[in-house]
Amino acid sequence: MLKDKIVLITGSSQGIGKAIALKFSSSGAKIALNDIESQEENLKRTKEEIEKAGGHAKYFFADVSKFEETEKMIQEVQKEFGGLDVLVNNAGIVQDRTLAKMTSEEWQRVIDINLTGVFNSTKAALPLIIQSRGKIINISSIVGLKGNFGQANYAAAKAGIIGFTKSLSKEVGRFGVTVNAVAPGFIETRLTENLSEEMKVAIKNFTSLGRFGKPEEVASLIAFLASKEADFITGEVITIDGGLAV
Ligand code: NAP
Repeated sequence: MLKDKIVLITGSSQGIGKAIALKFSSSGAKIALNDIESQEENLKRTKEEIEKAGGHAKYFFADVSKFEETEKMIQEVQKEFGGLDVLVNNAGIVQDRTLAKMTSEEWQRVIDINLTGVFNSTKAALPLIIQSRGKIINISSIVGLKGNFGQANYAAAKAGIIGFTKSLSKEVGRFGVTVNAVAPGFIETRLTENLSEEMKVAIKNFTSLGRFGKPEEVASLIAFLASKEADFITGEVITIDGGLAV
């Protein structure tokens, strides 16, 4: 369904981003991987996995919280692939602490990467996406809709992504571009593996399906949103949480 589409996924050396890259590649897309330089080993591994399965991938370093680096990456993607059809804004971090203990640096870093990062890559990629009448998919979180103890910075950034998604969808609909967000619940990645066993059990108890999600399950939803089948969906936030927020 995504044959020969050019797709850039930020923060795609591991976790959900990697699963998205593998999924898109298996549907015939050409993959631009991205992460920060310290993730080069993981990027190499992901690129090799894609190539071993018969796909095509290149990786590009950029810290998405820095506009100039991000803009340079988009220029490199254009040079390498000749355009861009789909941008998946996936890069994200957590720095959890109750607000009473949270430092300004912890607040700012999470906003800079998780929210300003989405602005930076989208702003830089928009001319290419308009040219291809393409698709933008942003990874928010259930925490952006419901809030979470100890995550005021993360929740604010993820809620910000929702406002950004809805606003941009209104601006670029006239060019045939769609902009959507997905809001995952708890997914099995490095981001959630450090939760205490007690917390993991409590989350599973509140989740209708009684388990965490898999990165591949989020990737399937994103591949659908990037496909022609989803051409009339825009400005939406689609929750994928096993029933946690019901
Ligand atoms: P992950 O395994 O930590 O992957 C995120 C990737 O983004 C990491 O490789 C990370 O590198 C990279 N990254 C961090 N800062 C970056 C920057 N400035 N520029 C470019 N790349 C950067 O996490 P994940 O669980 O797959 O999360 C992916 C996305 O899904 C995030 O936006 C997250 O908020 C969202 N999400 C996850 C869950 C969940 O339960 N896992 C739930 C809801 C939403 P470093 O490791 O070096 O920081």
